[in-house]
Amino acid sequence: MTAAEFKNAVREGKPPAFKDADLVTCATCAVISGISAVMTIPAVAGADYRDCTSLSLNGIECSPVKVNDDGSAEVTVEAAAVSPDRTSETIPKNYCTGDLLRDIAEGKEIEISVGGKDGVVEDIIFPEDIISARISACIGAGENGCALVNGGENPLKNGHLFQPLGADFSEAFVYGCGEISPFVNDPDLRSMGAGTKILVNGVIGTITAINNGVESEGVFAGVKVGGPSLSVSADMKDMMPEFMGGLTSKSGRESVIAVAVAIPVLDSESIKALSVTDKEIPLPVIDLDKSVKVGDADYGAVWQDADRSIEVNPLNCLYCGGCPAGSLCPRKAVILGGGVIQSRCISCGRCLNTCPGEVYSMNTGSITIKEGCKEGITEGITEGMSIPIKLRLSDRRRAEEICEIMKEMIEDGEFSLTEN
Ligand code: SF4
Ligand code: SF4
Repeated sequence: MTAAEFKNAVREGKPPAFKDADLVTCATCAVISGISAVMTIPAVAGADYRDCTSLSLNGIECSPVKVNDDGSAEVTVEAAAVSPDRTSETIPKNYCTGDLLRDIAEGKEIEISVGGKDGVVEDIIFPEDIISARISACIGAGENGCALVNGGENPLKNGHLFQPLGADFSEAFVYGCGEISPFVNDPDLRSMGAGTKILVNGVIGTITAINNGVESEGVFAGVKVGGPSLSVSADMKDMMPEFMGGLTSKSGRESVIAVAVAIPVLDSESIKALSVTDKEIPLPVIDLDKSVKVGDADYGAVWQDADRSIEVNPLNCLYCGGCPAGSLCPRKAVILGGGVIQSRCISCGRCLNTCPGEVYSMNTGSITIKEGCKEGITEGITEGMSIPIKLRLSDRRRAEEICEIMKEMIEDGEFSLTEN
């Protein structure tokens, strides 16, 4: 069963027993900057990768590591690479590694540019011509969850955020998929380790490393957020584009990834861990202005008392010049005239704040600073205080989708923890 099915049964007072499930599919869909790729690209007429001085795909710099006898080359695409501002209409500003990998998964043609001693060769290659491609990603501990607030007097801007964070604790930005996250359901890492088979963006991949030491802790404004980080790798063939792609932030370096893990139901300890629900999972609240943890909330308000996806009412569209909702959507998911490309939308909520016509609606909930949390509480924030969530940087809806996909693959015999 999926983690969502397991948790819903717990909430209904009918917690599953051993006989009810062998494996529970858990997942996260995170916004990260650590996605890189190794590809073997085809030879291009007029260019020789052996002595090229520059090489880019859709403006993203690549590094050749090996040139084969047939002229093809193995290249690396660095994590968080961003194309320089370009004149090409197909490559927008702040186009990043995540965008390139999604375009390849979508089968779009790719502009290749190879610089050499005789000048620059530009051509088009098609994804089906790419001989092999494999992505690697590190989902840092920060993605396991925290809420960012701002106790300062002015809105805060940060290269990783795609809208300023309101002053005076007026709003919160949240990370983390809560109760369905793999680390929540296997906190002692009994079933996850290097070599464990997983799903990455809908295809079978592997965990390459779990960093569970101090160095794995994510850092927000100097505040450490605990928990392991997860390194994964998978062949890009047949990856599902809706789980992929970049985000337009100030730095332009953020990408989306969805990873699912099948947690075996081993014993009563497994059942206990799998029975933890959103309301029981602490959500550290961090004041980005003063770099201090100001309290704990929980995931109940983030995912149980809120909508998972956006509603659209095109009849409200004011056809305002430039469509601010469209130009500020970090996923380029807004359609002019009031609409959303669902395969791109990550339900972040930004369009709620940027569309004057109220075309978009979604209850994003509020976090509550929990009673009893004294640590680091600063002036202006009090226990019991409610702070509206303005932006979500994890996509629970998408994470639940990949849990479902994994469950179906298990049922159809397409995925097992032990066989290929
Ligand atoms: S911002 Fe909203 S109201 Fe204005 S054009 Fe875009 S969708 Fe329509
Ligand atoms: S919620 Fe709105 S702003 Fe966010 S990705 Fe979806 S359409 Fe874009």
